[in-house]
Amino acid sequence: MITLDGLTKRYGGKTAVDDLTLELTPGTVTGFLGPNGAGKSTAMRVILGLDAPTCGTALIGGRRYADLDRPLRTVGALLDARAVHPARSGRDHLRAMALSQDISFSRVEEVLALTGMTDAARRRAGTYSLGMSQRLGIAGALLGDPQVLMLDEPVNGLDPDGVRWIRTLLRSLAAEGRTVFVSSHLMSEMERTADRLIVLGRGRLLADESMERLAAGA
Ligand code: ADP
Ligand code: ADP
Repeated sequence: MITLDGLTKRYGGKTAVDDLTLELTPGTVTGFLGPNGAGKSTAMRVILGLDAPTCGTALIGGRRYADLDRPLRTVGALLDARAVHPARSGRDHLRAMALSQDISFSRVEEVLALTGMTDAARRRAGTYSLGMSQRLGIAGALLGDPQVLMLDEPVNGLDPDGVRWIRTLLRSLAAEGRTVFVSSHLMSEMERTADRLIVLGRGRLLADESMERLAAGA
């Protein structure tokens, strides 16, 4: 569902993503592991068309993000939970996203319920804890009922209940046949979540292993 072919992103002389070639498959939670600065966010931003690749390609279901008809229905993403306008309520934020892509307000209520944000959604996003912002971001990612989900450090700032909740959610999304791509700088967050682990270091692919094989080798 997601295909990267020789994907490279440079900022000036600095190579953030270096010749990344891989394929992400449906029904799988793929963990994207690497220390801060490894290039995980950059790779996700390029896949989402928020940044142009220097060379190589990133395709979602065979198409570039920019060529997707109603992108939220194909791919949902959580990149920066704090990017929501602070004066806007969580509900209004999701409704604006929904309106832009012909998604119903009843679907907004569905994803709010799914993320436990129904009550909080009437408050301004600026009053949210990081954990609530993450939940709202995940609600936004789920809004279009997409087959592909890309979540950049979704567990950051969550309490243990929140971490367990995300794990259960990601596992059930993959069980429904979706392609789930989730980044983290902590191996411990991936252990009971990912089926497959892609390790990135200084923009380069260092390892690509099934979790089963990793566990057996440990
Ligand atoms: P990660 O998500 O793994 O922490 P990033 O993708 O954020 O890594 O960053 C990878 C590298 O690219 C870092 O060295 C970072 O400083 C650099 N970088 C990311 N975005 C930009 C940008 N807009 N301009 C210049 N350098 C950037
Ligand atoms: P604004 O209200 O300023 O237009 P929004 O946050 O409502 O900003 O979103 C603007 C556009 O960004 C949306 O139409 C949508 O296409 C895209 N977008 C926002 N959040 C996501 C997301 N989680 N996943 C994919 N696209 C998103």
